[in-house]
Formats: sequence, C-alpha cells, structure tokens
Amino acid sequence: MTEQEQIKEAFEDLLKSLRKDTSKESRQKIKEAFEFANEAHKGVKRRSGEPYILHPLAVAKIATKEIGLGTTSVISALLHDVVEDTDYTVEDIAAIFGPKVASIVDGLTKISGVMGSDTSQQAESFRKMILTLADDVRVILIKIADRLHNMRTLASMPEHKQVKIASETLYIYAPLAHRMGLHAIKTELEDLSMKYEHPQEYDVIDQKIEAYKRQFSALFEEFIKPIRLRLSENSYEYTITARTKSVYSVWLKMQRRNISFDEIYDLLAVRIVFKPKADQPEKWQCWNIYSLITDIYSPKPERIRDWVSVPKANGYEALHLTVMGPEGQWFEVQIRSERMDEVAEKGLAAHWKYKNEGESSELDKWLAGIKEILDQPDATALEFLDEFKLNLFAKEIRVFTPKGYMRTLPKGATALDFAYDIHTEIGNTCIGAKVNHKLVPMSYKLSSGDQVEILTSDKQKPQKEWLEFVVTAKARTHINAAFKKMRKELMRNGINIYENVVKRLELPPTSETLNRVLTNYGITNRDDLYMEIGKHSITEEDLDRLLKKKAENKFVKYWKLQFLWNGKEGDDKKKVQRGMAISPDSDIMIAPCCNPIPGDDVVGMNIAGTKVTVHKRSCPEAIRLMASFGDRIVPVKWVSHKLMSFLAVIKMTGIDKPGIVSEITTLIAKEEKVNMRMIHFDTTDGIFEGVIQLYVHNTADLNNIVNRISQLQGVESVKRMESEERGG
Ligand code: MN
Repeated sequence: MTEQEQIKEAFEDLLKSLRKDTSKESRQKIKEAFEFANEAHKGVKRRSGEPYILHPLAVAKIATKEIGLGTTSVISALLHDVVEDTDYTVEDIAAIFGPKVASIVDGLTKISGVMGSDTSQQAESFRKMILTLADDVRVILIKIADRLHNMRTLASMPEHKQVKIASETLYIYAPLAHRMGLHAIKTELEDLSMKYEHPQEYDVIDQKIEAYKRQFSALFEEFIKPIRLRLSENSYEYTITARTKSVYSVWLKMQRRNISFDEIYDLLAVRIVFKPKADQPEKWQCWNIYSLITDIYSPKPERIRDWVSVPKANGYEALHLTVMGPEGQWFEVQIRSERMDEVAEKGLAAHWKYKNEGESSELDKWLAGIKEILDQPDATALEFLDEFKLNLFAKEIRVFTPKGYMRTLPKGATALDFAYDIHTEIGNTCIGAKVNHKLVPMSYKLSSGDQVEILTSDKQKPQKEWLEFVVTAKARTHINAAFKKMRKELMRNGINIYENVVKRLELPPTSETLNRVLTNYGITNRDDLYMEIGKHSITEEDLDRLLKKKAENKFVKYWKLQFLWNGKEGDDKKKVQRGMAISPDSDIMIAPCCNPIPGDDVVGMNIAGTKVTVHKRSCPEAIRLMASFGDRIVPVKWVSHKLMSFLAVIKMTGIDKPGIVSEITTLIAKEEKVNMRMIHFDTTDGIFEGVIQLYVHNTADLNNIVNRISQLQGVESVKRMESEERGG
C-alpha cells in the first residue's frame, strides 16, 4: 500500500467511526480539517516511519469512537499538532475553523508546550491543563486521546523516553481518565504504562490471567446457564460476558495487599448488560435481576455495591454482587443497563448524552471545586498536584447537611473539611460540629451517611493544628490563606512597635540596630522578628531594655598573617614578612568557600595578580587552584591570631526538650570570645538538628565552645562543618 492509500484508508476509517447523528455539513467540515492538517504535516514522518498525519487521524478516531465526542472535537483532534509543529498560528485556525476549535487547539498546544521533564514543570502544565479544562472539558479529553495513541505507539520511541512517558501517563493521565469515567481508556493506559515500566512483571501476570481464563471457561458456562434461563423466562434482552481484571489492577492489588496471584479471588467478573423494559425504572430492573440471581446462588452480603441508587462521582452506575458458584467459588456479578454500560465505558461524553438539561453532575461540581483552588493565588503548582492526586485516589464518602443536601467528600474527611466545603467563612469560624445530633470536635472523621451541622463563633480564627487533620485541598488552601493574612497583620503591627521604639530611643534606623535585636533573640529572619513583636512575645519593654544598652564590640579589627611572598615579577624570590590587616580594601581576602580561621592550615593564592586569597589547605577549591596555577601559590602562615573574628559553622543534634535552644544560645551569648551570627534549629520526631554560624577568633576558641555545648544535657553531637556541607 502506498502512503497515499494508507492515509486515505485511515481517513475513511475515521468517517465510519463518526457518531450516527453527524450531519452532512459536519462531515464536510471534518474533511476540510483533514485536508488542512494533511497539507500542513506534509512530508513529515513519525518516529515509526509512518506519515505524521496518521497520528492526528488516530487521535480523532479515539475521540469519537472511544470517547464518543462530536464534530468540534474531531476537528480539533485533527488539528491538534498543527500549531505546535508547523508554521500555522492559532489565528489561522480561528480564521478557517472558528473560535471554538481555535481555543481548543490553543489549549492543547499550550499543554504540550510546557510539558517539560522535571516535576515542577509537569505540575505547572498540569495546573494549566486543569484551568483550561474548567473552560472546556474537551481539551482534556482530546489530550487523553492524544496520550492514548502515543502510548499505543510507544514502542518506536527510544527506551529512556518510553519510561518517562509511561510514568507520566500513570501519574497524571490514567487518574484523569478515571476521574472522567473513561474506564476502558484508563485501564489501557495503566496496562500500557506497566508494560514499559515493569515489562517482566507484566508478562508474568498477563500469562497467568490467560491461563486462568482457559481453565475457567467451562466453569463459567456452567455458572451462567441457570442465570440465562431465568432472565429469558422473565423476558429480558441481555448479554452476559466474562471480564477479567486488568494486568495492572491485579499487580496493584498484589502489591498493596502483599498477596500472591492465586489469592486474588475477584479476578473474574460476570457482566450482565440488559436492555431496559420501557414500563419500569432501570433501578427496579437492576434489583429485579439481582433477586433472580440470588434465587439461584447465595450472595455474600458485605460485597453488595449499589451504585445505582447513588452513582460514583465519575458517573459510574451499576449494581455489583458476589455470589457463591456451583463449586463453591466466588463470582462477582455486575448488573448494568445499556445506558449504564455506555456511561461506564465512555464516561463523561455518554453521560452528557443522557443528562437532563440544566442538571448539574457530580463531575461539574468537582470541576468547580478544582477551579476554586486554582483561583487561590497562593497555591503553588506542586502543592496543587499533590493535593489533587490525594483527592483523586481517595475513595469518597457522602454526607448530608441538616437540610438533607448531599455533599461528596474524600474518605477520611473531617467535620472541618465539611465546613470548608460549605463555605470558607464557615470553615474559618468553625468551633465544632454536631454529627447525627451529637456534639463532636471539628477533627471528627466523617462516615458516609452522616448528617453534619457545623457550629461557628465570630471569635474563632484558623489554627495551625487544623492543618494536621484536614484532608481536602480546599480546606488546606483556605487555612493557609488565612494564616498568610494573619501573619501579614501581625508583621505590620510588629514593624510599627519596633519603629516607635527605635525612634523614641533616637537610634539610627539601620540594619545594625535590627541585627542586635535579631542576634539577641537568635532569630534569623526579620519577618519572624516582626511577627514575634506583633504577637507581643517580644514586648516593647524587652526592646527598650535591649536597645538602651550600648552595643559592645567584642572583636578587635585585624589580625596578622605571615607571607612568604614571591614578590613582583622579575624580582628575585625573596622572603618578605608582612603583617596584613584585613579590611575590604586590603590586599588579602579570606576565601568564602572554606572560611579558614586562625589555627587552620592555610595557603594563599594570588590568582588575579592583585589580591591574595587565603584558603584552608584542605579546601577543594584551593586544591583545584593549586593544581592549575602552581606559580600563583603564596605560602602563608598565621602569626598572631587573637585579634579578629572569623566565621565558623557548627552543627549539632540531640534530643529535643523544652528550653534546649535557649540553653545553647545562652551558653554562646555568655562566651566573650564568640559571637553568634545565625542560628537555625529543626525538629523531627523529637530529634533536633541545629546549625549555628559563629564568629570566633581561632580554632582554640571554637573547640572550647564546641566542648561546652556538647556537655549540655540532651546534646548528642556537636561538630564544625566543613565548607562543602554548608551549601544550604
Ligand atoms: Mn499529538
């Protein structure tokens, strides 16, 4: 077959896949879009060697045949790579195919434009994707179709790209397809991803499933025989099929439950799809079939899943039951009407088809919620992605307002999550709740069916601990936003108090004055200081007392090094001893990479020809320089080292107990020969890690302070940090 024939055949195939209700006019427009795209991608090949146009054709076919989308989507899918890969612009598309198609193509182009390799970029593009999604959900559906085709043809990509694309698919696209109710596509995406990410495991499980199916077919026939009989007697039109679990879902279950393949009992499901009788609600008919089956086989009571009365949030409807078969094995049976089956397989698109005008689906509500989070300017993309995934995977619970309105929340949601779900202000002022008329704390975990009434108070404000128990992105985002606001107010208040004190004491409003306060309280960041003042944990009196004292300078301004100077070029090499004072305009610089202090073994490097930089002998940078510029080495040795201060960093760990930080800082503050520049403590699970930057005169002083700190109770280790550790 020539390329032309191949393309023609693919296009005719697409035409055959279009929805039955596609008008002649629409077919003509689709043809125009195809011809336009074909011309635009002319001569370009995919990696597999096929003409490029076969890709948009395949994506368009998936969009209509497997997702059930209409003409606008088919046209957009045909054009989806035109703007990205050719010279045509979105304006060109708009001029020919109208603004709707243009805006969908624009959304699709932007998404692939920012889909980079690192996580933060992926997260950001994902955020954009959701933003456009809220405007037109077709963008995301076509993107899923695009990804599905790329996954189906992934074999022609280089191996390192295969794994990256596969993991991205598993991380973002499969959950998204699931949320859209595209069950068949979700399953295929997962299986394809697994095939590339864990090829061996995939093959093993795949073969086991096939073997199991062969072994089971006789038993299956025996199982469904009496069911067929009863359904026909009751004049149902139906199909019965056996469905095995997908390779990926079997693997996932084995991983999560830590079980072997043989321990998976719901590997096979029997699916009954019936044509509903006109004179009865579908729900009744589902339960009627349920009753016919349980007349034959006994059901496992705790394994009934009723998604007919309350559909899943992604629109899924069906009645699942598990019954005991003729030889004592469990069979899962899924009962669906034809409509339910179409919704289950094609999801959202089919859902629309059956949805009544003006009715708002769970999915619409979900999209509105996502949009609300995105509208919060403070939510960073990565945080959002994590929260989103959290919400995506969590199972849902359904709870009710006192007036009986249902709200869907993720499993594990608390009364406070519910409060924020209702309204931000209700969340912010929540003090507790009544669940089923009983008073409970706001951290109370809700269960499906709970009726929840929120209690509020004007005096309440969001608390830090709240973040420890809320689970919804919405609550978390609003609590953080409230904190940011409160923090700003406290800081503003703190700045006012501080500035008043400085003015009253007639001190210079310089950073030196501020640094005295920071050092005194061991705070590193001025915003944190203003917060403490704003909260009155540092009072105006405290500031008064501190700033009235004259600043004592503990350090003398210079120290001496002895240089065995090479002299100027052309001179004989003679030894010159020079006492050098260090100041910003002197000839000598202490290397910032290793910060040597008197007592350290040092070496001077005269690289630029003017200044001598003094490094530790062990400094990697010095070693590098010495190796490349041997002639610029200036031998140097400490002569007198009582005089100036040097920066050293010590790191300590220990058991966190109240007051430990202040014990350490008090000890350092009392030490006359040492001054503190910066302090930082972190605690995890009762263990603290502290980093303190100190000004010391020499190694003896430093060793002395290290010893004294290590003798404090609770301190486990104290050591001086070498330059390379200091980075962060
Ligand atoms: Mn594409």
